[in-house]
Amino acid sequence: MTTATGALRCRGVTKIWGEGTAGELLAVDNVDLDVQPGEFVVMLGPSGCGKSTLLSMVAGLVPPTEGVIEADGEPVSGPGPDRCMIFQQSSLYPWLSVADNVGFGLRLRGVPKAERREVARKLLRTMGLADVLDKHPDELSGGMRQRAAIARAMAMRPRVLLMDEPFAALDVQTRAKLQNYIAQVREESGASVLFVTHSIDEAVALADRIVVFTARPGRFKAIVDVELDRPRDPRSAAYHELHDRLVDLLADEVDRAFAEQERAAR
Ligand code: ADP
Repeated sequence: MTTATGALRCRGVTKIWGEGTAGELLAVDNVDLDVQPGEFVVMLGPSGCGKSTLLSMVAGLVPPTEGVIEADGEPVSGPGPDRCMIFQQSSLYPWLSVADNVGFGLRLRGVPKAERREVARKLLRTMGLADVLDKHPDELSGGMRQRAAIARAMAMRPRVLLMDEPFAALDVQTRAKLQNYIAQVREESGASVLFVTHSIDEAVALADRIVVFTARPGRFKAIVDVELDRPRDPRSAAYHELHDRLVDLLADEVDRAFAEQERAAR
């Protein structure tokens, strides 16, 4: 078996939803992407351009229509413990305490209770949630729930975190905080991250590399290396320069996506 490092490789990946039906739709069109071990790659583009579709294929939740996806050199044929997905709304189990939620996957692996609690305690501390071990999810704010969900994912020690707009439902301040936490988690775990957003600010705050999508069908318009020091300073000239470049890259694509949505609504 290959030792997991978090490397991802996509070659000629295409997804046609509903292939062969009247409503068939080309969502992702022949894309190539490599994510290096420990790299933070953000997929940026207007809504509906195929970002989540590509992420779901990397997660192994849906198969590509054409092309190959590999994780650490092995073809992806389904979900695996090396790749953990985090969605916009966390799905913590409401009947379990936060500690038991974080330790849930470890329990399935047969890890004893005391050890699970210790792992949960450490991870929750990293996420700024030291005091909520015995609380239940409905006692937490949305931002706290999302942090607990990230801790639950990290408890499984995945080599790749797949994140689909994980902070989109949160207010701006909470979002900025969670961006710091995720940068820290990545640093400490060495995991690779593939992260979907339509926010330019979020992309610039987090990424080592930004993949800019075209409007649907999703293709790559540009791949931009982010050479800004961490932590990122949103007041620096270099930050603004990159932000403006991304605004320019996206402007036409957002217009195209809008026009298509209006056409579809008629
Ligand atoms: P994004 O993440 O960039 O907002 P998505 O990947 O969610 O875009 O969607 C790309 C296109 O694929 C959209 O037109 C969407 O309606 C369509 N789509 C997404 N999921 C499905 C599905 N399960 N079945 C059919 N069409 C889908």
